[in-house]
Amino acid sequence: MNLYDRVMRQLNQVADLMNLDPDVQKILSETASEVVVNFPVRMDDGRVEVLTGYRVQHNNVLGPFMGGLRYHQAVDVDNIRALAIRMTWKRSMIGIPFGAAMGGIQIDPRMVTAEELERITRRFTYSLGTNIGPEYDIPCPEMGTNPQIMAWILDTYLSTVPPQERNRCKHVVVGKPLALGGCPGREKAAGQGLVFLLERWASDRGFDLSGATFFVQGYGNVGSWTARLLCRRGARLVAVEDASGAMANPDGIDAEELAAHVRRNGLISGFANASPLGHEAFLKTKADVFIPAALETQITEETAPLLDVKVMAELANSPTDEEGDAILRARGIEVLPDILCNSGALIVFYLEWLQNRRSETWTLDDVDERLKRTILGAYDNVLQTAKKHATDLRTAAHVLGFSRLENVYKKRGIFP
Ligand code: NAD
Repeated sequence: MNLYDRVMRQLNQVADLMNLDPDVQKILSETASEVVVNFPVRMDDGRVEVLTGYRVQHNNVLGPFMGGLRYHQAVDVDNIRALAIRMTWKRSMIGIPFGAAMGGIQIDPRMVTAEELERITRRFTYSLGTNIGPEYDIPCPEMGTNPQIMAWILDTYLSTVPPQERNRCKHVVVGKPLALGGCPGREKAAGQGLVFLLERWASDRGFDLSGATFFVQGYGNVGSWTARLLCRRGARLVAVEDASGAMANPDGIDAEELAAHVRRNGLISGFANASPLGHEAFLKTKADVFIPAALETQITEETAPLLDVKVMAELANSPTDEEGDAILRARGIEVLPDILCNSGALIVFYLEWLQNRRSETWTLDDVDERLKRTILGAYDNVLQTAKKHATDLRTAAHVLGFSRLENVYKKRGIFP
């Protein structure tokens, strides 16, 4: 089953559970618009390539569209559509006044030079034209894109608007470099959001996070930041896995040193002070917390029985399939779902947009404080919804997101 089919199945299941208005269900099942652009780009050797870019806008009933741009060889419209739909649920659940979109180009960014990447990005932005805009649709970084790419988009977009309007259009894109109006704390935002949630989860259970043990799958941006922040809180990192394999040290792995090693070498392999471990042994690690922060569909019928933890906090998108989820529930392992755990990044994107729009510059403390308030507020709402519907946190998060959308449609009505 591809991601789009899984998303639609989830939508229909939750709609049934909560008796979602069938008209609203129909609206949420479709995207508002899908822009496909084919654009020529001159490559370094003088050849012209014609590339295809997408911008799928799912829903803007809560506010402007906002969402990632993915540069990846597997990008296709079905995939982009599914990601845009899930993003609408997430924004609504968190309570941010934004809708959701998603876009991208089917390229492998590692196979082009930096100059080619800049020309591709600028030409794609130009082709999107007024389909993006600071009050209409705001792109942000996702897989294969980064702050530099956002800077090129900003510069290209600003070049297409009259000079008098440029200073009030900075928020056409978020996830920018700090010097261009980016937000402090953006890099650690997803990890920081998860750490705020885990602190609350632990304190609700009278459990001390300092001294707790945890292990992480994935030591890229989100995995490494989470590990570093949890270790600063006194927790102990006992095992790590990335694309090069797994390693463990029951006395604790130094998260900062490992992050520096990965910055130098790209992967965790070759790091001293930890012993190699097979994949199955890694998943069997006895610890308080497991954090999947790498790939989709890692916890399944085969792997869920291996986990030996109190809680799994999903930082990666969709790391658990339905069968895996059911097994964890039956085994009494709590799951903090991805829709909640990795929303720190999108909250901080919203905070960047707000600062640019108000011509303000906030400190890291301001940003962290707003992030904490927003994510813990959402957590409380999800807990209440779970109680009301006697269901798990993942389903409750979806119910909460759909209810808010349903409420807005019912109050506004359908034009004409
Ligand atoms: P990244 O590319 O920086 O890191 C990915 C990590 O996964 C790397 O350490 C890589 O080695 C590891 N990995 C790859 N294949 C693996 C395998 N077979 N087994 C174990 N590890 C493997 O990516 P990221 O930005 O850290 O994102 C990771 C996940 O978090 C993704 O699911 C992403 O969608 C999600 N996420 C990221 C953000 C963000 O702000 N970056 C926000 C929300 C969610």
